[in-house]
Amino acid sequence: MFSVHVSHMKPPSTMKITEYRDIAAMILDLLVITDLTAISRTCQIMRELGQEVIRRRFRHILEPFAGNHLPSFLSALRHGNGLITGSSVRAMMGYNNSSASRDLNILVPYTGFDNLHETIEHTLGFTSISRVAHPAIAASIGIFRKYKSKHRIITLSASHKDQNILHIILNAPTTADMLFMTTGGLCYFYPNFYHAGIAIESHSGNLVPNDKKLGCAGEITDEFEMEKDMSFLNRTCNDLCPTFWHHVEEKRWRLCVDWNVEDSVTKVFHDINVEWRLNRECTNSECPRCFTEMSQNCECAGASNRDDVKWIPRQIRYRKPPFLQLIKGIFYGAQCHRPFLVPIPVKDGIDKPPTLDDLDINYWDLCHYSWL
Ligand SMILES: [Zn+2]
Repeated sequence: MFSVHVSHMKPPSTMKITEYRDIAAMILDLLVITDLTAISRTCQIMRELGQEVIRRRFRHILEPFAGNHLPSFLSALRHGNGLITGSSVRAMMGYNNSSASRDLNILVPYTGFDNLHETIEHTLGFTSISRVAHPAIAASIGIFRKYKSKHRIITLSASHKDQNILHIILNAPTTADMLFMTTGGLCYFYPNFYHAGIAIESHSGNLVPNDKKLGCAGEITDEFEMEKDMSFLNRTCNDLCPTFWHHVEEKRWRLCVDWNVEDSVTKVFHDINVEWRLNRECTNSECPRCFTEMSQNCECAGASNRDDVKWIPRQIRYRKPPFLQLIKGIFYGAQCHRPFLVPIPVKDGIDKPPTLDDLDINYWDLCHYSWL
């Protein structure tokens, strides 16, 4: 048996209610956002305390950028249906507080760009320093600006005219970067991997050199175990296969937390039709869709007549989301006795006349074709 004498603390009977609240708020501020909102649902006092902690955390993250203009900035963000992504969201989640104060990454729909640009330059007093996004993510961004004020950086990225803002999020270099917040809540994709400290590289992550950082991708490498593919599962990928398309309506791929339903994060998913996949190829040798397995299948099957190839045009035409461009090519399989005219899809995101590199020829893998 032993006893502890805490001389600097008052006996509980002499502590005021406000002091209890302060201590409770300090403890709550150590929690990650999911635990914080869960505990806020236990009673009225915890609800008030939880809301207070969330509001304070939100202000703490954004005030270094917006100062006294925070209300105007938040109003512009809401009005323009803008989102925040990157390290600020991780700080809001209760992770990575240290890196929150340098960069603020804002995303807006194409039509919301001018309004946010005005606010950042004229209200917040930042100066535009670049219009060039990192090549790895540039393809999913319509308009880009980078701003600076003293040692702080803001980036503003607008989606393409005909695309949703989520296309930018879901083309992030790793699963741990697929996260965003509104002024009323936050959302992150692949929550199970996130909680396990695992980040899976996506097709755009392949474009980031190993020794270079890309936004939050570089910052999180210390906290997250980076995986190039699903091989770490030591089993077949099943529905985690990076080649599978997912729709944003499938709630199991994301976790949303709201603290203000007036600007709920779930409104982002209302009435939209966005699909994504992590990669074009699977490199997990345990998976039947592994590219080495797939290429062997093609080799064995070969193609010698119309029946061998007729299902592929249908697969191409009914693919969702549809290919924006299809060109005609001549298919001449290794075992074919004569050539066939076939559709060849152009890779997503190419809206100008395609070059050979732009063709999505995996459908006609190991086949010979030529331009018409
Ligand atoms: Zn797979």
